[in-house]
Amino acid sequence: MTEVKPAVGKAEGAEATENYVSLLLAQEKPRPPITWSNWWTEVYWGQGIALMIIMPLCTFVAAYYTPLCTNTTIWMMIYYFMSAMGITAGYHRLWAHRSYNATRALQYALAIISAAAVQGPIVWWVRGHRAHHRYTDTDLDPYNARRGFLWPHIGWLIVKPRRSPGKVDVSDLKRNDIVIWQLRHYPWLVLVMAIAFPTLIAGLGWGDWKGGCVYAGFLKIIILQHTTSCVNSVAHWFGETPFDDKHTPRDHLFTALLTLGEGYHNFHHQFPMDYRNAIKWYQYDPTKWLIWLCSKVGLASHLKTFPENEIHKGSLSMELKRLHKKQEGLIWPQGDLPVVNWATCKSSHNQSQAKLRPLLYIAGFIHDLESFMGEHPGGELLLRNYIGKDATAAFFGGVYNHSNAAHNLLAMKRVGIFHGDVPHGTKESYIPPGQLLRVVRMKKISNQDVY
Ligand SMILES: [Zn+2]
Ligand SMILES: [Zn+2]
Repeated sequence: MTEVKPAVGKAEGAEATENYVSLLLAQEKPRPPITWSNWWTEVYWGQGIALMIIMPLCTFVAAYYTPLCTNTTIWMMIYYFMSAMGITAGYHRLWAHRSYNATRALQYALAIISAAAVQGPIVWWVRGHRAHHRYTDTDLDPYNARRGFLWPHIGWLIVKPRRSPGKVDVSDLKRNDIVIWQLRHYPWLVLVMAIAFPTLIAGLGWGDWKGGCVYAGFLKIIILQHTTSCVNSVAHWFGETPFDDKHTPRDHLFTALLTLGEGYHNFHHQFPMDYRNAIKWYQYDPTKWLIWLCSKVGLASHLKTFPENEIHKGSLSMELKRLHKKQEGLIWPQGDLPVVNWATCKSSHNQSQAKLRPLLYIAGFIHDLESFMGEHPGGELLLRNYIGKDATAAFFGGVYNHSNAAHNLLAMKRVGIFHGDVPHGTKESYIPPGQLLRVVRMKKISNQDVY
């Protein structure tokens, strides 16, 4: 039997190798498959069944019997926004990605308000999120989007994963006294911030104790849990990939609207240390606006942005990819043509060929204009004068300076290539305009397989 070495020891050496993830996975035995006989030991009864299933069901029943007044609706929306900001600006962009520095006052405010979202203590949330970024789309990613839509949305919170999440460094958080303070007091913070405080405001403010508890308390938690989960599910399934398509993250306005700007997830996975998720001024990213505002009033500093030049490289690569696909979908002049020289061309056989078929020599190529004679805008007679002759000068201005479209079309009529004193491809003006700029893969250039 082969010896299984400790994961940490092996990982240090393995990190340099290409297949780091499979090496890590090979060292750990997955949990057994879920069956009817073991399912009850394979689910999280607290955070999963109680919080994600029973609590929402009870809340819906309570909401059915609780009228929703205008003041409570507005309060629920405001408090939802505040709690969500604790997650997006705090848990995510500050603690998980260190995309800016926050004063102690702002850190306390974010640590306290985020408890209203009931998404676990900072250190637990960040550990999972850093693993998600480091091992995206693999079995070490706790919300691996390649396992379907439901797994990253809710499955991972209810069912115990078959694999432990990949190891990540959270030592910075363990040194942060505010993060540790939140961890120690988390149960109390949840009770106060998620339920008691919103109930108190609605009760003392306009006498709606029950509505405050049901809507601004419980229903807000449920909506927030699902909208946050949309970043793991919807944002990995729907939308565009403007910066990279190696992994599943995608940009979509819909997800951004649900998640206070976290929906520009393709950008975020490419440039995770950037305090912005949306880089264009018109894109919806209120979390970015809040962080920027905090920096203007001295609550935040050192807002990190990725170099614009590198961001443009990402988007250019994707544009080139799209153009390459479009280019591949078009028909281009034939590349593999027979090569002939002047001597062969002037031979009696070829001269007679030219009499049978309307062959023209232009810019080093032989063109067969049989299907085009009647369609020549300048008339068939003009073409006939040049059959079997070099019409290069005539085509490029001697008789008429043809359009780019005419030049592109001419290239499609090539049937042979001259080798000798007739230039072809040496003058830029002889290259069909449609081929002056091409998207070519590096691999093809190195193989010299370009035409
Ligand atoms: Zn993601
Ligand atoms: Zn992130």
